[in-house]
Amino acid sequence: MSDVVVGVDLGGTKTAAALVDAAGAIGPVRSVATPAQAGPAAVLDAVAGLVREVVARGGPLTAPDGSVTPLAAPERIAGVGVGTAGVVDTRTGTILASTDAFRDWAGTDVRGGLRTLLADLLDGGPLTVENDVDAHAGGEVWQGAAARFDSALMVAVGTGVGAGIVLDGRPLRGARHVAGELGHLPSPDAVGLRCTCGRVGHLEAIGSGPALRRHYLRLGGSPAAADARAVCVRAESGDPLAARAVADAARAVGRAIAGAVTMLDPAAVVVGGGMSEAGPIWWDPMEATARAELIEPLTEIPLLPSTLGPVAAILGAARTVQQSV
Ligand SMILES: [Zn+2]
Repeated sequence: MSDVVVGVDLGGTKTAAALVDAAGAIGPVRSVATPAQAGPAAVLDAVAGLVREVVARGGPLTAPDGSVTPLAAPERIAGVGVGTAGVVDTRTGTILASTDAFRDWAGTDVRGGLRTLLADLLDGGPLTVENDVDAHAGGEVWQGAAARFDSALMVAVGTGVGAGIVLDGRPLRGARHVAGELGHLPSPDAVGLRCTCGRVGHLEAIGSGPALRRHYLRLGGSPAAADARAVCVRAESGDPLAARAVADAARAVGRAIAGAVTMLDPAAVVVGGGMSEAGPIWWDPMEATARAELIEPLTEIPLLPSTLGPVAAILGAARTVQQSV
């Protein structure tokens, strides 16, 4: 079982990891809270501890076809692939930029730090670091909604808005590692609204979950709705302000997707993240707006929900480290 790697999905609130083999079979997913406000050293310690726990507990591995193979705890692993929040220089494994959700995350040498902490387990094997939405996209193209396509735009809408672009089966990182940062596209729906990056008028300022809730409050909605999920529940039970807030946020995302599709002409679009799971109340205005904006040859592009859910980024990060050798 020398081909087994560990895939890690390092998010602002939670870090999840699992063993993954070369055929895409995945072991039990384990997770810990991410100490994102405690600083980079604490985060890297938490990730390394989780990787050790995943390896120590072993299998079984579940293949994409559902078959299950037992796996004893491996002594060494063939690599670790990490998908993390933030803009990542994939050549060095360093964080170039990040939001306030992670204290002091920008500048962190994730690869170097984890290599040191996991030296015995890795035994010189590869360790790759990439953006979490790129990892999510890689997972969906490998085994998920985009598996039958050689190019795809993967859009994640949750606490932020991001995208991963896969062309000819490989992720497009960009010259400065920023390709796919859809949330920071200027949006006609976000005029005057402050973005998490500090600028004004970007998509994330209206399209993300927290932004949707702020929009609802601005419209005069009840502060008792604690998050975007609560606003969606209110929208479904007939609160007209909630319905308007959800539709406005969804339309902003749809318009941005149409722009990205027009630029890239990918074979398919996959939409994941927490907002994509809100149901037709969010999905329908998002899709209708995207299709209305697209010119003729693009209007029938498949717009698909993410099928792998929380394991997508784990699988994609594992795939990246497998392909790095
Ligand atoms: Zn921005």
